[in-house]
Amino acid sequence: MKASEATNYYFQKAAKELHMQTQLERILMLPKREVKVECVVELDNGEVASFRGFRVQHDASRGPMKGGLRFHPEVDFDEVNSLASLMTWKTAVVNIPYGGAKGGVSCDPNKLSHQELQRITRAFIDEIHDLIGPQLDIPAPDMGTNAQTMAWIVDQYSKYHGWTPAVVTGKPLELGGSEGREAATGQGVFYAIEALMNDEQKNLADLSFAIQGFGNVGSFVARFIHEAGGKVVAISDANGALLNQMGIDIHALMLHYQATGSLAEFAGAAPLERDMLLTIECDVLIPAALGGVLTGENCKDIRAHYIIEAANGPTTPEADEHFRKAGKILLPDIFVNAGGVVVSYFEWVQNIQQFRWRLDRVNTELKAAMLDAYRELRAITKQSDCDFRTAAFQLAITRVASATALRGLETDSFCMIKT
Ligand code: NAD
Repeated sequence: MKASEATNYYFQKAAKELHMQTQLERILMLPKREVKVECVVELDNGEVASFRGFRVQHDASRGPMKGGLRFHPEVDFDEVNSLASLMTWKTAVVNIPYGGAKGGVSCDPNKLSHQELQRITRAFIDEIHDLIGPQLDIPAPDMGTNAQTMAWIVDQYSKYHGWTPAVVTGKPLELGGSEGREAATGQGVFYAIEALMNDEQKNLADLSFAIQGFGNVGSFVARFIHEAGGKVVAISDANGALLNQMGIDIHALMLHYQATGSLAEFAGAAPLERDMLLTIECDVLIPAALGGVLTGENCKDIRAHYIIEAANGPTTPEADEHFRKAGKILLPDIFVNAGGVVVSYFEWVQNIQQFRWRLDRVNTELKAAMLDAYRELRAITKQSDCDFRTAAFQLAITRVASATALRGLETDSFCMIKT
């Protein structure tokens, strides 16, 4: 199943339960604008090369559109489309005043020099600068891009429109980035887990966790769980996994990883075959690496009772259905990993106000945003007797549909659930 088909499946399932009109369903599903451009640049060896750039702007009914920009050889419209609509639902679930967008340039950052990447970024902005902006569409880093890419975008965009740091988020601190942005997604995942476990009257210190992925999201989640007394019994990256049923010392592992660039040969845990991590005995499984890892094939072997989707789209619809029937509790990606976009929103607010927040304020506001969203989702699961993913899509769709209606598109089926 393609990425966009999975997103549309979950959307349609929730829309059906809300008894939404087919016409409205279509309006909300299709992107507002799809842009495809050619970025022509000179390579370091003097040759001229052309790269395909994409920006999909999915929905703007609740505010400017927001979403990452990825540099990857396999970027295509299907993937970007699906991720753009996910951003619409994600920003709506955590109730920040944005719509959704996503973009990318089809290139391989590993094979390009710093200067070549800079030229591609600037060429892309030359093509789309009229379509983005602080009140229109605000890109952010994603796979293959980083704070440096955002700094080049600020510079290039500002040549056309005057000094505008709020055109992107995820910037370096020196150019108006926010404190706490780097850890934000992992921090938000942790607040989501904390909210769920408080509700379930479980103590973090009594729970065991397996985390797939030790990158930006996985490493921060592991650290926050460890610092809160939770037992991270297994962790993996692309090259392997580690297991220690007594709990891995995540601080020591981070030092080892910094020193060696690898999980291998860490003295505080035993090696484990990489994909075995998904099926080990533990209370909480946190996929924090790739999409499509929990499938119809392996779902029956998953032993964790709680599944926390830190990655985008880790569960296929078949596995999702199985987990629901098996009585497992799954917190969905459009809620769990929204911490990054929430702190992006705080960065944008700080840029517009020209006032810098301290880290404690960023984290206090982030925690409040995640807790509010959790409480709303929990209330819907009780009211509609549904799982958290359906609740999240219902909440998001209702918010987007209501905003669309209030802005003038009248239809009978808008206010479907009370938010
Ligand atoms: P990253 O590139 O920093 O880290 C990815 C990690 O996954 C690496 O440790 C990598 O080695 C590991 N990995 C890759 N293939 C693996 C495999 N087969 N098995 C186990 N581990 C594997 O990426 P990230 O920023 O941490 O993002 C992880 C996920 O979270 C992605 O799905 C991303 O879309 C999503 N996400 C990230 C953010 C963010 O702010 N970084 C926000 C929202 C969602």
